[in-house]
Amino acid sequence: MSSSAAAANTAIDVQGLHKSFGDLEVLKGISMQATDGDVISIIGASGSGKSTFLRCINLLELPSAGSIAINGEGIRFNPPKNGEMHPADKKQIQRLRTRLGMVFQSFNLWQHMTVLQNVIEAPVHVLGVPKAEANERAEAILNRVGLWEKRDQYPAFLSGGQQQRAAIARALAIEPQVMLFDEPTSALDPELVGEVLKVIQGLAEEGRTMILVTHEMKFARDVSSKVIYLHQGLVEEEGPPKQVFYDPKSERCKAFVSSIH
Ligand code: ADP
Ligand code: MG
Repeated sequence: MSSSAAAANTAIDVQGLHKSFGDLEVLKGISMQATDGDVISIIGASGSGKSTFLRCINLLELPSAGSIAINGEGIRFNPPKNGEMHPADKKQIQRLRTRLGMVFQSFNLWQHMTVLQNVIEAPVHVLGVPKAEANERAEAILNRVGLWEKRDQYPAFLSGGQQQRAAIARALAIEPQVMLFDEPTSALDPELVGEVLKVIQGLAEEGRTMILVTHEMKFARDVSSKVIYLHQGLVEEEGPPKQVFYDPKSERCKAFVSSIH
């Protein structure tokens, strides 16, 4: 508690992450650190393992090996024995998951709940926040993403851009230490992309720690503190956006970024 205020806190520390599905090794040893306020963009061809990497960080998939620490609390993964995890590990996994907010390409809102109900669900039922307090906070968050008027609507009555902003509000509602975005604008009609990127940019400007998988290269260049290029389950290139986009060391990365510009 007494460390100097100037020392940047490591928000997330991933070491040697491996993930296999059966015989298919998708992640082959990925390490990544983010300090508080970092915005890390992950780019790479389809199938390179970007979603799997995010899903492993969020423990939606269990890594085959490696370690993940969030704000200093870590889990080391070894292949589970007989496919079963120790119950204590399950509890720790649940706790770590509440520190991460995840936004998916396809929004994944609960269709039978209103926007407000979607946003208060995890705070009330996972974190035990009293309902009145959760409602109040949810309204403030919905106001931030420009959806306060839509709070009592069901997702089916919202545009894709509005649904994605509601999904961002839902992820923010657990007050996560790190926000994870998996191609948040890929499912949107082009005219709706801007309103979602604007919300994400606002979060970056607030100093939120974020990991963002995106094909929006211009956006990634402008908001990221670091860009990671994945190729076949390995970090092929990483560095400040200017380096990765304009002066990559890797020929593959060069070819990839020029194909997307
Ligand atoms: P990206 O997000 O970069 O397009 P993914 O992480 O979705 O890549 O996928 C990487 C590879 O892992 C692909 O070959 C994909 O088919 C495979 N994969 C992803 N999820 C599973 C799964 N649940 N079971 C089997 N293979 C999977
Ligand atoms: Mg993906």
